[in-house]
Amino acid sequence: MVVEHKSLYEQFADKCRHFNGIMNDRCNVGVPYDQFRGSGLPCLKSLGCSHLCPSASFFSHEEVAEKERETNEQVRAFIAEMTEGKTCVICHAPIEGRYQVGRCVYAEPCGHRQYQGKVEYEKKGR
Ligand SMILES: [Zn+2]
Repeated sequence: MVVEHKSLYEQFADKCRHFNGIMNDRCNVGVPYDQFRGSGLPCLKSLGCSHLCPSASFFSHEEVAEKERETNEQVRAFIAEMTEGKTCVICHAPIEGRYQVGRCVYAEPCGHRQYQGKVEYEKKGR
C-alpha cells in the first residue's frame, strides 16, 4: 500500500483560505458545505472543482511560505519546551512533578498530558 504524504506547503496551498473543516456547516465566509454534496468539495484545489464556489480563494506562494514558516516555528518552540521540560507544553505553567497514567506522562500541578513515555514515579491518589 502506498500512502501519499503531502508536505506542509502542499497542504496549505491546497486549501481555500476560508475552509474551516467539514465538521462545520459553513466555511469562514458563510458558504454552506451542504450544497456541494455530490458535486465535489471546491475547498480543496486538488479535487479540481474550485470553480463551483465563487468565494474559493487560495493562498499565494508568499502566504503559503509564511504559514509554513510560522508552523515550523511553532513546532520548534513546542519541541524545545518539551525537551527542556521546565514548563507545560499546553499551559506553559512551571512543572513541579510528573506522573504516569497508562502510557502517558502528565505534569504537576496543572495535570496536562505532556507526552507518551515513562517517568520514575506514579503520582498517588489520582
Ligand atoms: Zn499545563
